[in-house]
Amino acid sequence: MQGIVFDIKRYAIHDGPGIRTTFFFKGCALRCRWCHNPESQPRGETLARQTLRVGQREHVEEQVIGRVVTVEELVSVAERDLLCYEESGGGVTFSGGEPLLQDRFLERCLERCKERQLHTCVDTSGAAPAERLDEICRWTDLFLYDVKTMNPRKFKMHVGEGFEVVRENLRRIARSGKEIIVRVPAIPGVNMEWEDTWEIVGLLDELPVAPRVQLLPYHRHGIDKYARLGRRQEMGDTMPPAREEIAAMNKRFQDAGFDTL
Ligand code: SF4
Repeated sequence: MQGIVFDIKRYAIHDGPGIRTTFFFKGCALRCRWCHNPESQPRGETLARQTLRVGQREHVEEQVIGRVVTVEELVSVAERDLLCYEESGGGVTFSGGEPLLQDRFLERCLERCKERQLHTCVDTSGAAPAERLDEICRWTDLFLYDVKTMNPRKFKMHVGEGFEVVRENLRRIARSGKEIIVRVPAIPGVNMEWEDTWEIVGLLDELPVAPRVQLLPYHRHGIDKYARLGRRQEMGDTMPPAREEIAAMNKRFQDAGFDTL
């Protein structure tokens, strides 16, 4: 069975516990205005162009983004770092893009990784059909679940379609009993006000087990990718939030009874 990825990162340290290999699946149904991997969004291959100047001459460099891989290839890459996983408590992470959009491929990769006793993590926005979600839960140790806003108007304006699906899929994963870390991107001007936090807390309060919460402060890495893709970046001059703003937002979640990372 085959799937399509746009990147593979070994020795990753921000995609779950320990040292990990992260597979970035291509394709995402959302269009977050702050997305720092816009090349991940189209489902198929994507062409990026960069104009390089050497003296008076211009040279256009083209790059095809997206590579078809088989389950066996992917697992053999994951197995290269078994010692690192063992020593650090790490494993394998499936990220994107949106890994749940390639649900059958994801399910098979997870199953093969679990057969080899690797710790498995799925990093998802939840914006995908849920047909295979129960099977995916079965083979997943940890979900990193992005909750961007629980305000339907803001979701539509800044993220796209799929508000209800994102909410329902989180509830469903929570019912499976699997560990969840809810990751909230902290985006100035979008979701950092008091009421934004409380709308998210309202959802998390409904879950059978309180997830841990991790804030992901907005950053500007990747902003130049938009030009290479012939797209306009929509965050303008928005700057990353100050340390104090992140601390205040973290404290709101803590005051509501959630552990933060
Ligand atoms: S969910 Fe992630 S990959 Fe998809 S558009 Fe948003 S930030 Fe980008």
